[in-house]
Amino acid sequence: MQFHDAHCHLPINYFYKDIDNFMKQWLDLGLEYVVGVSMKYTEIEKAIELQKKYKQIIPGFGIHPWEVKRNMPEEQINKISYHVATVSPLVFGEIGLDHHFIKKEQYYPLQEEVFRFFLNLSEQYSIPINIHSKGAEERVYELLDSFSIPPSNILIHWYSGPKKILYKFRDKGVFFSINPSILGGSTHRFVLEKVELEQLLTESDGNVKYWIKGERIIGSPAIIPQIMEKIAEVKNLSMDEVSEVLSRNFKEFANIS
Ligand SMILES: [Zn+2]
Repeated sequence: MQFHDAHCHLPINYFYKDIDNFMKQWLDLGLEYVVGVSMKYTEIEKAIELQKKYKQIIPGFGIHPWEVKRNMPEEQINKISYHVATVSPLVFGEIGLDHHFIKKEQYYPLQEEVFRFFLNLSEQYSIPINIHSKGAEERVYELLDSFSIPPSNILIHWYSGPKKILYKFRDKGVFFSINPSILGGSTHRFVLEKVELEQLLTESDGNVKYWIKGERIIGSPAIIPQIMEKIAEVKNLSMDEVSEVLSRNFKEFANIS
């Protein structure tokens, strides 16, 4: 049975240093694709290196809103623009806005500037985007609406915002990734209940740690089959059906033919 992980922080040392062992384990389990998202520029370079080793790894270029404290240096802008023209397949992530964990409002316009930089490139080069929207869901929705990016290239990762905005995103036709927190009975469950399978992907957000049935689990692609079991249970489908639809969804999202 094949599966994907649409959002995993592969360029951090925890995975990066031991990638051969991890990939062996994940490929044995049936991993088809994993998006290795980055938080900052140095991780983008590492994500490109990982793709050169494993074709199943899709690099995620991104500056996470938590990392946005100043304007992007000109040199980084040039390098990213260069890599965008040479790396394929490619996803932008983790990008977006955060008005929940980042309390200092003076950073919000900067977050928007960096987010817009990636949205512009996405629009220009048809690059799929992997979005963080914590506490800024409505503003993210408005910004996305002002760009002409196909909804099938938009992934809202680990959505936990207001239901009203969830429905707006859903009706726009974007993808949502179901996260391991679903296994611990989180509020994220309403995403799984309210969104059809045709608009879902799966993610670990590794190496985030989760409490699942009293156990502390480190997120990685190895946990995805358990998420798929939960999806099969809630949607009342077989694992094979779930696997087939999710695989098709991921390829549509990532522009893989
Ligand atoms: Zn993340």
